Amino acid sequence: MYIDSFIIDPDWCVIEDTFDITRVRHNESIMALGTGFLTTRSSFDEGFSDDEQNISYDRKAMNVSLEVVPVKKSRWGTFIPLVQGKHPFWNVGVINLPYMLGLEVYADGEKLDMEKSKITGYKRWLNMQAATLYRTFIWETGSGKKLNLLFKRYMNPDDRFVCVQDLRISAVSGSADIIVKSYIDNDTRTNGYDKFINRNVSFAGNQVIYSDVTGNLEDRIITVSRMGCNKQGSHAVTREDNRIIASRSFILKEGEEVQVLKVSAQVASVYFDKESLLDEGIKMLSDVIDQGADSLHNAHTARWANNWDISDIQITADDPDGYNSQRAIRQSIYHLFRARSTDPRALNCAKGSTSEMYLGSVCWDMEIFFQPFYIYTQPALAKMTGLYRYNILNGARRSAAIHNYIGARYPWQTDRYGNEVCSLFEYADHEIHISADIVVGLWHYYLNTLDKDFLYNQGLEIILETSRYWTTRVNKLKGRPGWHILGVMGPDEYKPITNNNAYTNFVVRESLRLAEKVVDMCKTDAPGTFKELCDKISFDEKELVLFNEIADGLPIPKDDERNIIWQCDDFDTAFCEIDIEGLWEDKSKLFGFYTTQELRYRAKCLKQSDVIALMGLYTSAFTKEEMIASFEYYNPFTIHDSSNSICHNAIVAACMGRPDLAYENWMKSMDIDFGIRPRASEGVHFANVGGMWQEIVLGFGGMASALNADTLTFNPCIPEQIKEIAFQIIWKGQQVGVTVTGSTLTVKNMSDSEISFTVRGKTSSAAPGSKVNVDY
Ligand code: BGC
Repeated sequence: MYIDSFIIDPDWCVIEDTFDITRVRHNESIMALGTGFLTTRSSFDEGFSDDEQNISYDRKAMNVSLEVVPVKKSRWGTFIPLVQGKHPFWNVGVINLPYMLGLEVYADGEKLDMEKSKITGYKRWLNMQAATLYRTFIWETGSGKKLNLLFKRYMNPDDRFVCVQDLRISAVSGSADIIVKSYIDNDTRTNGYDKFINRNVSFAGNQVIYSDVTGNLEDRIITVSRMGCNKQGSHAVTREDNRIIASRSFILKEGEEVQVLKVSAQVASVYFDKESLLDEGIKMLSDVIDQGADSLHNAHTARWANNWDISDIQITADDPDGYNSQRAIRQSIYHLFRARSTDPRALNCAKGSTSEMYLGSVCWDMEIFFQPFYIYTQPALAKMTGLYRYNILNGARRSAAIHNYIGARYPWQTDRYGNEVCSLFEYADHEIHISADIVVGLWHYYLNTLDKDFLYNQGLEIILETSRYWTTRVNKLKGRPGWHILGVMGPDEYKPITNNNAYTNFVVRESLRLAEKVVDMCKTDAPGTFKELCDKISFDEKELVLFNEIADGLPIPKDDERNIIWQCDDFDTAFCEIDIEGLWEDKSKLFGFYTTQELRYRAKCLKQSDVIALMGLYTSAFTKEEMIASFEYYNPFTIHDSSNSICHNAIVAACMGRPDLAYENWMKSMDIDFGIRPRASEGVHFANVGGMWQEIVLGFGGMASALNADTLTFNPCIPEQIKEIAFQIIWKGQQVGVTVTGSTLTVKNMSDSEISFTVRGKTSSAAPGSKVNVDY
């Protein structure tokens, strides 16, 4: 049996032991494969009956987290982040591309169908170490034959637009007439809408089938597939509406095995010449197929081994039943790689390309939630974030001008050109902290990589242009000194229009202060570059005076006696208290489903706590007393309807010296996508995925981010359930291995120069190649 040839390590594999139709959409997301350039949801190759994928429906513009979309058995999803199209209600966003995974199997005329066929010994698993999806089972056909099938699927990041499906069928008992049908179907919908203005299917020679579609923004996408089989048989190509099918028929005798290799590629005009897409696609298939199935997979596995080399985290834990910290952190890291491209024009969206739910748009999630993983383990990938924002700087300038401001104002949710695509005004107009988050993110990147080239050539222009925007967005208030940012939505999206939001004011203040600092650095290190920039954007250093004055004049509302940082002006007295427990009948659903938006907007119920997000980001800017007082104040009102909420709660709990609370939050984070309840049907919650890495390294490991410390600093906070955590990071160019237990922290210096580090205030240093243990 195929299954006997695998060791399925539960710490490395996401395993499905029984087929359950109600979990299909969830598993399609959490087992998704991708190269960063192209992602496919992990749909079942042969599909299901009565499961049309071309149903049109209207999405209702509600609060972003509370939408319900029509439920189907499965949801095909194939995305190239840069291929976008228009939607009547949802502006511009990714297109759900033609489906290329179709691979049906017939035995003696019966079609394989996981719901209807007699299946035993079923197992499906995603081996994250090798980024390969497997499925095997025994199929007892109506004609009394037993077939053992093994499906294997992978996408090598080096073959950016290619997906490989490798199917083995062996006849365990009886001989069977087999037909394998490979198909491409281009009758797909995106958020219930048809984004193609024309579609066609055809074939080239007798090997290649293809689809040719044009999106409604004129992108052309050719999807090609070629199926090979190591058994002689008859071959046919047929067409059914919007589906092109290549079939191979043969007799499989008892004891025989056949291998079918299907290789597909999505080739889009955003990457290749529009007129030669078909040739390009065919060539891509040949290049891959010519390598042969075994060496193809070996190359893919080696590529992924390389990813894990620095970025893996090992956790030894006694988790309660249903949780596996080790696997969960690997799930998070797996997705962070799977969704990341090296194309700075198109990066991780809020769902990591596992659905079109957030339109494939990029939000603050990128800088604040996923970027730290890249900054500390994959600096080359981290660089893409700043380049991405630089690419859309003109969009941010347009957005500022549209709103009657100067400088650059980044959209809350952005399309590939930097246009705002969020169709809800509360967010699009008021959730303006994004422009400062971007500066905080690029500074964080610089602090750890010391990449002056980026900072001076791209970063500084973003810093100066966003600073200019803030000068026109702030106000003076009668009777109050300083400057004020009025009418904003902070990260807590249940409070739409508030004044002096602590999170927003703080990050704006930080970003404004950077202007002078980076100008000085650039003038000293690269005066020519600085002069060019001044000429390009007509920048006059005198502008810095106002930037600094505003930064110094922005209040961070605080109750000095109680040590509480207020979410916004008058938070304590401006919002009413409601009976959260009483209203929230079923906590497995979001609180938002039990209340109206109007109530949430006037009550103390926080989708996520702004103040805790701020403290989690700037851990060194607040005292332990402020953290404890603020946490205790906001916790009863924080309902976590946003999955982004958890990671900062865990980090702040760790800073407060509360390992129990930190672990409680870690469990909540694991639950969001990787727990026992299927919650990722509409895509993986990517901010939480990035947040999970932060919870382990910055929370339990207690590492101060480069935003918070100049030297490598740890204040570990290990809960009783966690026995040991081991991770590697690159700290300002030096690679170090860190192992933390409840009482000792070990630093292994893997670089070629000495590194000094601090554990709970005690400073040590490690010579190159040495390992230093510090008891704390
Ligand atoms: C969160 C936002 C986030 C968005 C995308 C919303 O539910 O409140 O902070 O950017 O989801 O993840």
